[in-house]
Amino acid sequence: MSGPVSLPVGGFLPQSLVDWPGRVAAVVYTSGCNFRCPFCHNPELVLPKEFGAPPLIPFEEALERIAQNRNLLGGVVVTGGEPTIHDSLPDALRALKKLGLKVKLDTNGSRPEMLGRLIGEGLVDEVAMDVKAPLEPEAYSRLTGIDCPPELLGRIRDSLLLLRRSGVSHRLRCTVVKGLHTKEDVVELTETFGPALTLQRYRAGKTLGELEAGPFDSAMPALSEI
Ligand code: SF4
Repeated sequence: MSGPVSLPVGGFLPQSLVDWPGRVAAVVYTSGCNFRCPFCHNPELVLPKEFGAPPLIPFEEALERIAQNRNLLGGVVVTGGEPTIHDSLPDALRALKKLGLKVKLDTNGSRPEMLGRLIGEGLVDEVAMDVKAPLEPEAYSRLTGIDCPPELLGRIRDSLLLLRRSGVSHRLRCTVVKGLHTKEDVVELTETFGPALTLQRYRAGKTLGELEAGPFDSAMPALSEI
C-alpha cells in the first residue's frame, strides 16, 4: 500500500455496543451504494448530495482514532452504504488488521469477487449479509429499488455460496418491510433459508424512499402482521 487509502468514509463511530453483538466495536460507514432500497435508514450514505451528507472523513483520520482506542476495542465494523463497491476496501481492511483488530463486514452480497478476495486474504473475521427478498427478479427489484436481472441474482447466490464454503463466521439477515414484502415472500424466504436467515423488523425512521406502511409491533414480524 502506498499513500492514503481512498476509501470514502461517510460516517464514523469510535465505539458501539450494538453493531457487533458481544464486542465493543468502532464503526466505519462507507459512502455510496449500488442499491436503492426504499427502506434504507442511511440515505445520506447512498445519495450524499440529495440528503445533505456531511463532508467525507479521511480514512486515515478514522484509522488514527481507532488506533488511539485500540485497547478498548474488540473489533471494527465496516458497513455502509455498500463497502464492497470500493476497490480501496482491501487496503483499508489491511490497515485495520495491522492494528491487530478483528473486522466485521456488512454487505448486500452483490460483489462476490470482492467478498472472495477479502475472505481469501484473511481480511474479514465475520460477515453479515443482507438477503433482501426471495432470489427472483420481481421481488428483489421491489425491495432494492433497482432493476435486478438474473445475472445480479446469480452474484447474490455466489456470495451466499462463498460464505457457506468459507468457514468464516457469518449471519444472513432480512429486514421485513410492511407494504414491500408480501406474506408469500416471507414464506419463501423461510422455506429457502430456514433458521440460517434472521428476519428482523423494519424500524420507523428516516428512509431513502417514501414508505406508506408503518413498522411492525413486534421485533420478529409475524406472518399475520404482514
Ligand atoms: S439498505 Fe440498501 S440502499 Fe441502504 S445501504 Fe443497504 S443495500 Fe444500500
